[in-house]
Parts: sequence; structure tokens; C-alpha cells
Amino acid sequence: MMKQTGKVYVVGIGPGSYEQMTIKAVRTLELSDIIVGYTVYVDLIREYFPGKELFSTPMMQEVDRCRKALEFAAEGKVVSVICSGDSGVYGMAGLVLELAEQFPEVEIEIVPGVTAASAGAAVLGAPICHDFAVISLSDLLTPKDLISKRLLHAAEADMIICLYNPSSKKRADYLHWACELILQHRSPDTVCGYVKQIGRDGQEKHVLTLEELKDTQVDMFTTVFIGNSRTKTDGEWMISPRGYRNV
Ligand code: SAH
Repeated sequence: MMKQTGKVYVVGIGPGSYEQMTIKAVRTLELSDIIVGYTVYVDLIREYFPGKELFSTPMMQEVDRCRKALEFAAEGKVVSVICSGDSGVYGMAGLVLELAEQFPEVEIEIVPGVTAASAGAAVLGAPICHDFAVISLSDLLTPKDLISKRLLHAAEADMIICLYNPSSKKRADYLHWACELILQHRSPDTVCGYVKQIGRDGQEKHVLTLEELKDTQVDMFTTVFIGNSRTKTDGEWMISPRGYRNV
């Protein structure tokens, strides 16, 4: 009998609500034998895939979780590793591909999703309608001085800056630190916004100045947007004009 080999899909499930999952992501999860993921994300999708085998592990066990998924596939199963937002933006796609070198018989496919930057931008209006940089403030995997260099250069280049992982218990003052760096190159009046729990219960949006953002406490389920020098507000909306020509 021919040995059956499985497949690992790395699936971005979007920011939270079922509507913000792509049709491809839904179909992929439907055809999978097992869905593997961080407990919080598995709980988000559980109700939509009744009867599906689920395998969840807590945060910080990414390597074990991805290896387990590859092992299931090596046994012949079709496995989906789920990530919030997009699977390739601070997601599991890279790790699964790196670990897959040890499982040459297992086929891999990456299924993208709506990342927090675009889902959060839609809530605020149009804050990333021009060149933007996405920077994570988490220094778990990136040295802090490299994060600082990226913040300073993006600020100097007048990029719109989108911050992921803006805060955590151990990094409660990182947003303040990042805003102080950005203020070296940008006006305190720069229009900023942040969105909490995008697409989930308790979604909240706020538009404020960079000076105000500096003294704001946000949590890890928040995405922060720092406009460029042309970003403006219009009623409740945050808008970064599409170009540098007057329209
Ligand atoms: N792969 C994810 C990002 C994972 S990093 C994506 O593409 O969206 C985790 C960070 O993403 C969080 O700290 C937060 O800054 C942002 N994020 C992800 N989902 C979010 C949501 N539903 N609401 C607000 N921020 C979110």
C-alpha cells in the first residue's frame, strides 16, 4: 500500500469575526482533519467547525505546536495551523516552513488572512492609504535597539507607522518609549489612532494626537496607527491622503 502523506496548511483566520475570514480559509479549515493553534484562536473558531478535531497549546509553545502539526501530517493527516490575522505577518508561516525541512514528505500551503493593520485601518477610516511601516514593539525576538532604529528611520522618512504588540505586562511603558522616539522627527500634533479587539466583542477605536498617544495605556489586543505629516481627521475618521498632489 502506498504511504499516505498529509499536508499542513498555515491559515490566517483574520482579526476575529467569522465574516473577516476569507472563503479560502473557511474551506481549508472545513477540509482539515485537525486544527492546531494557540488556545485563544482555537476558541475563536470552535463554534464554526463543530465536530472538528482541535489541538491547542498555550502561548510561547509555538515551536512545539508547529512540530506537532508536521508530525500529524507525516502520519497522513490534513492539518491546519491557525494564526490570527495573516499567517505571514508575525504569524506561523515562517516557523512552519523552517521546521518543514525536517519533514520533506509533508506538503505545505500558506493561506493568507486579513491582517490587523488593514482590519483596524477600516475601523478608523483610511489611515494607511499611503506608504506605511509595520513595526512590532515586542522585543522577545527582536533586540530593542533594532526596534528603536526602525522606529526612528520610519519616523524620519514620514512613513505612516502601524504598531503591533504595542504593550504587555512586562512592556507597559513601550508605547510611551516608541512615541518619544517618533517625536524626535514628528510633530506632537500628528494624528494617531488605535483600535482594540478588532472584529471581536468589545471593539473600540480612538483618534488622538501623538502627544496624547504618548501618555495612553493600551493592551496587547490593540493595533496603533501613527499618521504621516499629512494625515488628518474628518469627523470621526482618520485619513491619510492618497498622494502628495492636491486633488
Ligand atoms: N498575524 C497577526 C499579528 C500577530 S502579532 C495579524 O496579521 O494580524 C499580535 C498583534 O497583532 C497584537 O499585539 C495586536 O497589535 C495585533 N492584533 C492582532 N489581532 C488583533 C485584533 N483583533 N485587534 C487588535 N489588534 C490585533
